[in-house]
Formats: sequence, C-alpha cells, structure tokens
Amino acid sequence: MGADVIVVGGGIGGLGVAALLARKGRKVVVVEPYKLVGGRCSSFEKDGFRIPTYVHAFPRAEHGYHTALARKIGEPIAWVRQQDCIMNLNGLDVEFSLSSLLTTIRGMHKAGVPWFELLGIGGRVAKDLLLQRKEFEQRLEEDDVRSWLLRYTDNETIHALVACFATAALVVPYWEGSMAEFFPIMKEMLRTKGGGYPVEGCGGIADAYENGLRKAGGEVRQAKVKRVMIEDNCVTGVELEDGETIEAPVVISNAGVKSTVLELVGEEHFSTEYLNRVRGLEYSMSSLAVQIALDKKITDLKFFTYIPSLDTLGYFKTLEKGEIPDELTLWLTSPTNLIPSLAPEGKQLVCCMTPVPYWPDTDWKPWVEAFLKTIERFLPGLREHTLWKRTVTPENIRLWSGKEGTCIGLGQRVGQSGKDRPSMRSPVEGLYFVGVDAGTGAVGVELAAKSALECSEEVESAVGAAKVASSAKALPQSR
Ligand SMILES: Cc1cc2nc3c(=O)[nH]c(=O)nc-3n(C[C@H](O)[C@H](O)[C@H](O)COP(=O)(O)OP(=O)(O)OC[C@H]3O[C@@H](n4cnc5c(N)ncnc54)[C@H](O)[C@@H]3O)c2cc1C
Repeated sequence: MGADVIVVGGGIGGLGVAALLARKGRKVVVVEPYKLVGGRCSSFEKDGFRIPTYVHAFPRAEHGYHTALARKIGEPIAWVRQQDCIMNLNGLDVEFSLSSLLTTIRGMHKAGVPWFELLGIGGRVAKDLLLQRKEFEQRLEEDDVRSWLLRYTDNETIHALVACFATAALVVPYWEGSMAEFFPIMKEMLRTKGGGYPVEGCGGIADAYENGLRKAGGEVRQAKVKRVMIEDNCVTGVELEDGETIEAPVVISNAGVKSTVLELVGEEHFSTEYLNRVRGLEYSMSSLAVQIALDKKITDLKFFTYIPSLDTLGYFKTLEKGEIPDELTLWLTSPTNLIPSLAPEGKQLVCCMTPVPYWPDTDWKPWVEAFLKTIERFLPGLREHTLWKRTVTPENIRLWSGKEGTCIGLGQRVGQSGKDRPSMRSPVEGLYFVGVDAGTGAVGVELAAKSALECSEEVESAVGAAKVASSAKALPQSR
C-alpha cells in the first residue's frame, strides 16, 4: 500500500494538515490508534452529555486558526461567543470582559489596582512599542512573562492576574513562560475580543477536519505507527505495530517532536547536536481535570477563574514541592450554559481544571479531594445534584495522550519558543512535524491548527514540485 503523504496521529494538527493536503489532491493516510479522533481535543457521548475528553476554553472562537483551517477545507465550524469572565481573586469577585475595556478596567480597580497605575503601565508599554520598537521586540524574544512585566510594574495584584492568564494560555509558571508566545496571544485575544465554544462541542473541530479529509478522498487508519522508515536519510514510509508497512515519500508526524525523533525514527538518523537539542526540550505542565454531570442547572457561570492567593511564586513553589495547597487555582467552564444541547434537557455539565506538575507514581486521590473542595465553594449543591463525575489525573493524560501528561505539548518556555521553537522540517528528508510542538504564537488547539496551516504549505511546495527529496535538500538547515 502506498500514499503521497502519511500523517502519524489524528490530533488537531495531524487531521488539519491531512485535510488541507487531501484537498490539494494528495493521497493522504492518517494513522491514529484511537477510534476517537482529535487527540487532546475531542469529545465523546455519555448519557446524553457531550463530554470533552479534557477541559477546553477557546480564546478566539471563530477568529482562530482552527476555524480558518476549517473554512479552507469547506467545513465551517459554528461557535457560541463568550467574552466575559468572572474571576474570584483572593476572595473578591471581579468581572473581566474582552469586549469591554471599561468593564476590565473597572474589574482591575475593584481588585485593588489604582486607575493611575493601570494608565501608567499602558502608557509606558505604548511608548516603548512606538518609540523603541526594535528593543521592545528584542525584549519580547528574550524575556519570560514575569521579567517582562517587572519592567513595568511590581504590583502584586497585576502580577497575580497576568500569571493566571499566562498559565492558562501556556500552562507553565509565568517566570518560565515566553513573552514571545504570550504577547501575540494577548494581542490577538484583545483584537478579536474574546472566545467561545464550538456548537458541536470540543470534538466538533476534529469532526470537521475528518469530514474534510474523507470528502477529499483521504483515509484514517486505526492503527499505531511503530516506526518511521528511513533509507539514505530519506523517509520511505511507516511500519505499523502489526508489521504492515505503508510507503510514502512524505511522513508528517503529529506524535510530538521528542517521541518521533527518539522513538519512532531512532537516534541513529540524527546528528548529536540535533539529538541533544531534542532531548533537552521540556513539556508544559500537566493538570487535574474534573467533569461533573448535574441533574439540574445549579450555576449561571459560563467561564470562571479562582485565584486563591496573590502570592503566585509561593503557590507554585508549594506545587513544585509536591504539597497540596489549601485551595487550588480553578478554571471552570460550563459548556451547557453556552450550548444547552450538549446535555439532556434541564441538566448541566461543569468542567474544571487546575494546573499541576507531572510526577510519576503519585496518589492523586487527595489532590482530587482538595480540588473538589475548592470547586464546591463556588457551586453550592454540587454533591447532591451530581449524577456522576469523571476525573482526569496527570497519569490519565500520560496514558491516553503520552508525553509526560503534558497539557499543551512542548512548553512555550524561554529558549524553546518563538524563533527557538523546533522547526517543522526535520533533518531527515521528507519528515515533517505538525501540531503544538512545531507551532508558535497561539494557545493549544489553535497552536496545533496554525502549525497545520503552515506545514501544509511547506509540504505542498515540496510535493507539488514532485521532487520532495531534492527540494528538501535545498531547504535551509533545520534548527
Ligand atoms: C487537560 C487539558 C486541558 C487543555 N485545555 C486547553 C484549552 O483550554 N484550550 C486550548 O486551546 N488547548 C487546551 N489544551 C491543549 C490542547 O488540547 C493540545 O495542545 C492540542 O489539542 C494538541 O494537538 P496536537 O495535534 O498537537 O496533538 P495531540 O492532540 O496530542 O495529537 C497527537 C495524536 O497523535 C497520536 N499518536 C501518538 N503516537 C502515535 C503513534 N505512534 N502512531 C499513531 N498515532 C500516534 C495520538 O493518539 C494523538 O491522537 C488542553 C490539554 C489538556 C490535556
């Protein structure tokens, strides 16, 4: 059996690039071990609820790269907008809105940040951006989020808020998160005025890509790739776990840069320098997630954030020591408050998550109990109205999605972000990477979709010239 392109993995990145290339007339085969496609962004049905496999918020909704990709393959995704967020900051309820700057300024003011402080920071950032653009951009490339913010303010409340947004977007502590990644994310969120939720649930994105792929003659094979076959530094295809081989001059891996290089291809095909670089790449943090099916609607909250302490550094140090904080940071969404059809009539789905590091051999039960206690504080009546709940621990994420239970994939940390992000081109001719690990400047699902858009163009130009090997040789050296 042969194909023009084999895609290893049917996550958002893999399905996206597959659908785009199939629409261009390429014969594309996606190999994905699970029946449920979409990788870390998928949904399944249970008792009439449409449950996200994990927990998702979509910061730019219809303006995002995921939706641009869907439009390109003729499978539009419908969204319900959600621009406002209630946040409880250290005991105080404040409202933020991406559609109303005034609401946000009022919220910050209520949280204890004086107007003049906010105006002063805004003015200094604008001045640097306008008058010292080169230096400003240089600092974005080099700074972590905390160091960058300290250039403008040491206000504890502003730091707690920015740390929360940065951790939500990048899932790394804000002193590790790259400003080169966080700045474009925030800029785009403000420009497009907020997020939303797919009408068909999280899985609606992957479903749209799979439909596009199949309609264009592409195929999804339910199997696991055991190895990527290489001859004379050129890709020749893949071998599946049952020993079957599929030949193709192009293999695009959505299985992650580290897993692909170190496990699927094999170290002998790369230089020591490249291997050392790959071995040193670090993942984002993991998370604890709880999804709760309720027999009635008990909250109007659509998107809610709880920051239990303004001492962000202290909070993360507690986590890093493996100790359970008294209360955990909480990001809560109720998809059914936006789209009631995602649950049986009158019932409600609430999804919560909190970032935690991944440690093997951890007993997560006390963590889940502590997290439920935090959740209950904001959802009175939770226990008596719970039909069932589904808990996802970092160990579950590792088992289902691999990569040390990471939320995002390779962390958007200083040193592996922006121009330092691994290239989508590998040093092996015909081997490409797609998905979050090879994407830059967006959040999770969008990052994967953005990478698919870019990868399809890169591969198309090589395949389109019908000289994959020779055009790959002419490409600049991969990082
Ligand atoms: C708990 C949690 C919460 C999150 N919250 C958000 C959020 O709110 N907003 C957001 O934008 N993002 C969020 N994310 C992140 C986002 O879901 C991911 O970053 C994104 O979906 C990754 O897409 P991907 O295509 O790069 O990779 P993946 O989704 O990891 O897909 C990789 C695919 O490759 C397959 N694969 C692996 N090995 C092989 C092999 N050997 N052979 C064949 N196939 C293979 C896997 O089965 C998988 O389907 C969250 C993630 C988690 C875990």
